[in-house]
Amino acid sequence: MKTPSPVPRRNFLRYLLTGTAGAATLALLPGCATGDTDAQANGDRPAETGTIVPAGSGTSFDLAVAAPGASAVYPYALPDLPYAADALDAAIDAETMQIHHGRHHQGYTNKLNAALESYPELQTRPLIDLLADLYALPEDVQTAVLNNGGGYLNHAVFWPMMASGESGSPTGTLSEAIDSAFGSYDTFKERFTEAALGVFGSGWAWLARDETGALQIVQTPEQEPPHASGFVPVLGIDVWEHAYYLRYQNRRADYVESWFNVVNWDQAARNLDA
Ligand code: MN
Repeated sequence: MKTPSPVPRRNFLRYLLTGTAGAATLALLPGCATGDTDAQANGDRPAETGTIVPAGSGTSFDLAVAAPGASAVYPYALPDLPYAADALDAAIDAETMQIHHGRHHQGYTNKLNAALESYPELQTRPLIDLLADLYALPEDVQTAVLNNGGGYLNHAVFWPMMASGESGSPTGTLSEAIDSAFGSYDTFKERFTEAALGVFGSGWAWLARDETGALQIVQTPEQEPPHASGFVPVLGIDVWEHAYYLRYQNRRADYVESWFNVVNWDQAARNLDA
C-alpha cells in the first residue's frame, strides 16, 4: 500500500480587501501558516483591483481567541444546527441545509476522526492547535487535518453566523468597526461580495479580525480556515457549490445577495468580541 504523499508545503495565499472610505487596497498576504514567502507563489494570482502589497508575516496564533469548534478535541462530534433545516429558506433551501450539514459536515467530521485514529498523541490536542502546527504533524495526516479539520472548523463557525428572520444590519461596536475599516456598511457589503464572487473554485470569504484587532476581508481556498493564519472569523460565507447549487446552480452572485438576508449580526458581534 502506498504511503500518502505529504502536503506540498505551500504559501497560503489570500487577498485582503481592506481600506477606508471605499479606497480599498488589495493586499496579498503571505502565509502565516508556513511563514514562507516566495516570489513565484506571489505571482500566481493577478491583481484584479487595487495594489498588491505584502501584509502580515508572522506565525502568531492565539489559542485564547479560538472560535466555536476550535477547542474541540478527538473524537470530534458533528455540532447540531442552531435552527431547523428550513429556517434559512429566505436564502438557502432545507434540502441544501440537510445535505450540507448531515453529509458534508458529517463527512469532514468522520474523516478527521479516521485520520487521527492511530495518533493518540494528536487526539488530546485542540483542533486549532493541529491546524496552526500543520507542518509539524506526521506527514501522512497533514492533508487530512487541513482538509477535514479545516472543513470541520469552518462549518462549525459558519452555521451560527446565519439565522432566520429579518437580518437587518450590524449595530453597535461591530457597526463602528465596519465603518472604521471600510467607510460604510454599503462599502463593506460591496467588498465582501466581491471577495465571495472572486473565490476561484471552492472556498470561503470572511470578515475577520486580524492580529491588531482590525477588520479585514479575507478569502481562503478550499477548507483552509482563517484561524490558521491568525484571523478570528467574524462572519463568513461558504462559496463551495455544495452550499448553493440546488437552488442557484451556477448563479453564485444570487446566492451571495440572498445570503445577506440570513446573516446573524448578533453572532457576528459576539465573534468580534471573542
Ligand atoms: Mn460547505
